Amino acid sequence: MKLYNSLTKKEEEFIPYSDVVKMYTCGPTVYYYPHIGNMRSYIFMDSLRRILKYNGYKVEGVMNITDVGHLTSDSDTGEDKMEVASKRENKTPLEIAKFYTDIFMTNIDKLNIDLPEHITKATEYVPKMIEFIKSLEDKGYTYMTKDGLYFDTLKFKGYGKLSNKDMNEIGVARIEENEEKRHPFDFALWKLVEPNHIMKWDSPWGVGCPGWHIECSVMSTDILGEYIDIHTGGIDHKTVHHENEIAQNDSCKGHEVVKTWMHCAFLQVDGRKMSKSLNNIYTLEDLEEKGYSPMDFKYFVLNTHYSKPLNFTIKGITSAKVARNNLLKLLENHKNSLDKADEELLNKYKQKFIDAISDDLNTPLAIGVIWTLLKEKPSIDIYNLIIDFDKSLGLKLDEGIIDETKDIPEEIESLAKERWEAKKNKDYKLADDLRNTITSKGYNVLDNREGYTIEKIN
Ligand code: AMP
Ligand code: ZN
Repeated sequence: MKLYNSLTKKEEEFIPYSDVVKMYTCGPTVYYYPHIGNMRSYIFMDSLRRILKYNGYKVEGVMNITDVGHLTSDSDTGEDKMEVASKRENKTPLEIAKFYTDIFMTNIDKLNIDLPEHITKATEYVPKMIEFIKSLEDKGYTYMTKDGLYFDTLKFKGYGKLSNKDMNEIGVARIEENEEKRHPFDFALWKLVEPNHIMKWDSPWGVGCPGWHIECSVMSTDILGEYIDIHTGGIDHKTVHHENEIAQNDSCKGHEVVKTWMHCAFLQVDGRKMSKSLNNIYTLEDLEEKGYSPMDFKYFVLNTHYSKPLNFTIKGITSAKVARNNLLKLLENHKNSLDKADEELLNKYKQKFIDAISDDLNTPLAIGVIWTLLKEKPSIDIYNLIIDFDKSLGLKLDEGIIDETKDIPEEIESLAKERWEAKKNKDYKLADDLRNTITSKGYNVLDNREGYTIEKIN
């Protein structure tokens, strides 16, 4: 199996340290509703876990829940996101964390994401974080400033290797930044806090809370050990969060801890990252209200390679929905057939499919293989093979077509039929008028290669 390693900047043959693949994923900060951009990153984690398993590997995964320490700015300034939410909603940080973790987990479930074996909360790891920081201090990698203990990046040879950062770069001076920092890339390991801060712990450096990056180093090595095969996250974490994790890990353990770093590209809106701060987010629930199922979204995501930015549009998700429905219809034909398929033909497709997923998780190509296979003569063997392929995609293909037409009134059905006839007869004016009538009555007609589907507008 080949995987692209962001650290070596190469596609490499994947060779795990042992017979169990140790994998860590940066989890969500649970201060707000997860958006579908966040969920793209976890669909990527899901594909990786499933494809490893499909290829016969055992996987042990960890994903953290950040419920303390993630500040509103990446430069160790600003407020803790959990505290901001706590004031906004007049709830304790614990209540905030529980509320948004539950919503996140519901999203994970709806998207049929294979959850890592260990889910860890930052707040439950603070004593171990203090131990880890002490060990960095003993080894001489830290210094104290008025607002907390910092990591001295100049002491760690190789700082910046993941994102090709230049240590001579001065960095953009920020007014609010701690002027005692020795280098712009230095980062907080322990931040001292004001007495009115809600989340705080005692430590050898004073009352405060952990810096954001330390939690991932501590939770990953505590559970998975000092040799971790794969670490995943969104591309935004590459330049700061993951550079800092590498600095902490490798300085503490004295060797390279993570072998392969993998990053998922952004889900974008109009060419910009989908993010809460840009106010351009959609949640999975927003999509469901518009009539798109979580599996439509997953199909939409898997049709683009994880390393490529993906622009989210209603047109795009609608095409994904139509395509998925067509795929399910073709699959139904195979399911209902009693015919056998040629063994050689099945083997040929199985090999093509495995080649695709094993080439750095090429899910769009793998879905292409399924489409070609679906066009072969109907056979129950083809159905069974595609259901087997789906173990690596998690698209719930075995659930079959959900009949969405059953709530469509007869009047709408007949208007849609009339419109289809008009379209076939090239009477586009009549077809458009009928479409408008249908829309005014609260329904949408979506055309596809085989015909059309009708949807209620929410
Ligand atoms: P956060 O809760 O902000 O820590 O983000 C959770 C995960 O979602 C991280 O791995 C981010 O890199 C990822 N992420 C955030 N925005 C996007 C986006 N628009 N597209 C893909 N991944 C994203
Ligand atoms: Zn992390």
